[in-house]
Amino acid sequence: MMHKQTIHDLNVAGKNVIVRVDFNVPMTDGQITDDNRIVQAVETIQALRTAGGKLILLSHLGRIKEAADKAKLTLAPVAVRLAELIDAPVTFVPATRGAEVEAAVASLQPGDVLMLENTRFEDLDGKKESNNDPDLGKYWASLADVFVNDAFGTAHRAHASNVGIATYIKESAVGLLLEREIDVLSTTIENPKRPFVAILGGAKISDKIPVIERLLTIADSIIVGGGMAYTFYKAMGYEVGTSLVELDKVDYASDMLARGKEKIILPVDFAIATDFRNDAFDRYDTYENIKPNEMGLDSGPLSSKRFAEVIAGAKTVLWNGPMGVFEMPAFQAGTKAVCDALVASNAYTIIGGGDSAAAAIQFGYADSIDHISTGGGASLELLEGKVLPGIAAVQDKK
Ligand code: AMP
Repeated sequence: MMHKQTIHDLNVAGKNVIVRVDFNVPMTDGQITDDNRIVQAVETIQALRTAGGKLILLSHLGRIKEAADKAKLTLAPVAVRLAELIDAPVTFVPATRGAEVEAAVASLQPGDVLMLENTRFEDLDGKKESNNDPDLGKYWASLADVFVNDAFGTAHRAHASNVGIATYIKESAVGLLLEREIDVLSTTIENPKRPFVAILGGAKISDKIPVIERLLTIADSIIVGGGMAYTFYKAMGYEVGTSLVELDKVDYASDMLARGKEKIILPVDFAIATDFRNDAFDRYDTYENIKPNEMGLDSGPLSSKRFAEVIAGAKTVLWNGPMGVFEMPAFQAGTKAVCDALVASNAYTIIGGGDSAAAAIQFGYADSIDHISTGGGASLELLEGKVLPGIAAVQDKK
């Protein structure tokens, strides 16, 4: 149950609504290369416009370390794309505060959309945005009557544009996107339809220990693939060659295998390579056959078949982390096979943000997955069961 105010609890008619969105889109030479995050924000923006709000949008874009970063990290192209997506004008002010901002705010009519410049331009002078400078939070709060936080990607950070504004404004709510992320990644996971299968992959165990621990108590089965799998095989005493291994996590992997032996499912075969290169693929082979000078860079077909059987029996599936080095074509098959198994299953399918979400989108599976999270770090922290400051700061339901 969502205990935070949502936009359904608000009456925004004629009010100034400051909305924190996540427009941190990938850009190359001033061109947006993937507009998914803008698309995802449209629903909340349109709902608030229809309700008669006067919108002031804030987002960060990349990291601003020096003045020269400003030219390539302006939000101006995002405003242009947003206007196309909502089929309405978006006024862009190339400033984060000051007279020009205030004049533009004063001239807003119900349904209008104003967008300010990249919030991290405020990081140049004392990291005011990223350190949640109280004066900056107060200033942005002073521009509006209501605050809506719809930026999941930064919800695990306390910045002036999320926690700061929420602290200093009278009324606040989560947007539709944030509401859905919380519903899925926290409520659904706490009370999943069973069997609940978790799939964990990616490079390192060390990044995911708190998530592994939590899933060990909640999930019925845990598939462990990606680079993580080799530390588990090392813990069982097998030769893993030059595969990715975290030597300081071997004991942890042993302990986890002992505690979760009924639940943990490891790949039984791998794409074996002589080097960390696309053209170094040698063969698919089982876990006993990795030679000292070889590395595993993906899970193999026997593993994919086994994983698909487990996924087929599930009612809820949560996936975080690719099964192999999916950036190289020779090592994509394991990750694609998981996508196929997710699509084929009748389960409710969830992909935590980050690389597995990027892979599923890149391979064209986005429309067939029930929920693809927009947050990487934020989705991991929510799955760990942590309280995210950007959510906590929003007002509770009355
Ligand atoms: P993470 O950010 O922890 O989800 O890790 C994602 C990264 O793990 C991707 O860049 C993959 O290339 C990498 N990865 C997956 N499997 C392997 C593997 N067997 N060896 C090395 N890196 C891997």
